[in-house]
Amino acid sequence: MINLINSNNFNSEKTLETDILLIGSGINCLSFIEFFNTLNKDNKRITVIEKGEVKKDLFKNERADLNNSNYSDNFQNDGVFEFNKKGMNQSVSGNSSFWGGRFTRLDKEDFLKREWLDNDKEWPFTYEEYDETINEIYKFYNVDNNKNFDPYHYFSKKYLIKSNNLENKIFFIKFINFYHRLNQKINLIKNLDIFFNAEVENLNFNNQSIDSISITNKNFKIINIKFQKIILSAGVLGNIKNLLKFKNISNLIDSKNIVGKYIMNHPGGKILEFENNKKVFSSMYFGSNFLSSSYRYGIKGSFNFQKKNQITNSLLLFQPYHLLNKYKFSDIYNWTKRKFTANFDKRIILNLYLEMLPDINNKIDLIDNNLKINVNIDKYAYHNIEVLIAELLNYFCYEEKKIKQIVENIYFKNFFEDSYHYMGGTIMGDDKKKSVVNKDLKHHEIDNLYILGASVFPKSGHANPVATQLFLSYRLAKHIYK
Ligand SMILES: Cc1cc2nc3c(=O)[nH]c(=O)nc-3n(C[C@H](O)[C@H](O)[C@H](O)COP(=O)(O)OP(=O)(O)OC[C@H]3O[C@@H](n4cnc5c(N)ncnc54)[C@H](O)[C@@H]3O)c2cc1C
Repeated sequence: MINLINSNNFNSEKTLETDILLIGSGINCLSFIEFFNTLNKDNKRITVIEKGEVKKDLFKNERADLNNSNYSDNFQNDGVFEFNKKGMNQSVSGNSSFWGGRFTRLDKEDFLKREWLDNDKEWPFTYEEYDETINEIYKFYNVDNNKNFDPYHYFSKKYLIKSNNLENKIFFIKFINFYHRLNQKINLIKNLDIFFNAEVENLNFNNQSIDSISITNKNFKIINIKFQKIILSAGVLGNIKNLLKFKNISNLIDSKNIVGKYIMNHPGGKILEFENNKKVFSSMYFGSNFLSSSYRYGIKGSFNFQKKNQITNSLLLFQPYHLLNKYKFSDIYNWTKRKFTANFDKRIILNLYLEMLPDINNKIDLIDNNLKINVNIDKYAYHNIEVLIAELLNYFCYEEKKIKQIVENIYFKNFFEDSYHYMGGTIMGDDKKKSVVNKDLKHHEIDNLYILGASVFPKSGHANPVATQLFLSYRLAKHIYK
């Protein structure tokens, strides 16, 4: 059983001891605990501090209602690209009960050097290590492995894009409440305490390590917790805020100037509706089902096409927006189970997820305890859209003149939406002047501090971030166990 402890129930001061302390109880914290538990032969004690509540709907096996999200921190958008609070959650399990379920791995192109782009960075491990570990994680969660899935069996060959310039991208979806899934495993873990309604008040230093923290509850009682290792897993905004908030850390370290920098997202949104002169197969909209999993379909430029046109690794999706107005998403999702093969519609509605490059000027500052988010769209964004759409229309046999007209008329201004894929801010790398943690996620200058989550991503890539975050949790569990 998880030991869920309401810290508001403490009426006197206390000092506790643990082996590993995690701050923030989202998917990164929970998956780390699960992975670590498979190795934890000497029953190390794990303690989690969560500032939010335990919400009732977390125990349902479905996606929680986005309207019930409760992000309590204040933030202000100063840049052109706006972060949206709706759908963000601060309670036990964090955003994992709200996420959209797209479980997408990075691909080879995300690991290749791209000398044609300014500001590109690199992942400090190989694609092979990443790919192999993700396969292990899929097995761990008993999800079907993409590699065993033959898209051509379910997505009729006839209607998949066949082009040297554009690639089909089939990716995996699991519409489940991730907390519920994790909860079943986590419930079995011994030596695990989760304190909720508990916010960190102080970090106490001893030489180059943090040896204890103090938390306070609503009765102003102080709970001191001593530990060996501390992992910051408070989400991208939370990780940044915690590092900037505690001046005793930020004044001590060289990397303080990098904390909050290189913020990324996948700016997205509906960009175009157009009539197609070929019929569109239903699965291009809705995806398809294979065993217990669902797959979605997208289109990307091939690597050579990206290079030739100097664009990033961005993704186009065919979204059924008009149907979403009429039907519940769960109904639409159920249709995919029928694997119907009839031609569906000639109308294509294009949605886009842009890769955003790591730019030091895209940053978050902490002013009077409020986050100021200053993120701008990079110079490649519009160029990406123009190039990808022109190529897609070309594939659909549009005349050159018509393509030019359509591309010129795309209304770019303010159409980019927040995809809730926050990344960066405490990025990983070798150089402590240009990054905050090393490739093992250890803080460059604080001996026992690790940072977990998408805040360490050095680049955004094309994929939704959770699969890559699980890769990092898995790696960290192995590293800390050693
Ligand atoms: C609506 C929505 C849809 C999404 N869809 C997808 C998708 O389809 N695919 C995908 O890959 N990703 C998706 N994402 C992104 C994904 O959900 C997040 O990347 C992921 O959940 C982040 O997990 P985390 O554990 O790092 O942080 P969080 O889930 O943010 O959890 C952090 C926790 O830390 C707590 N905390 C913060 N500061 C403190 C503190 N000082 N003391 C104690 N506790 C603290 C917070 O209260 C919170 O509960 C989506 C996100 C949203 C919001």
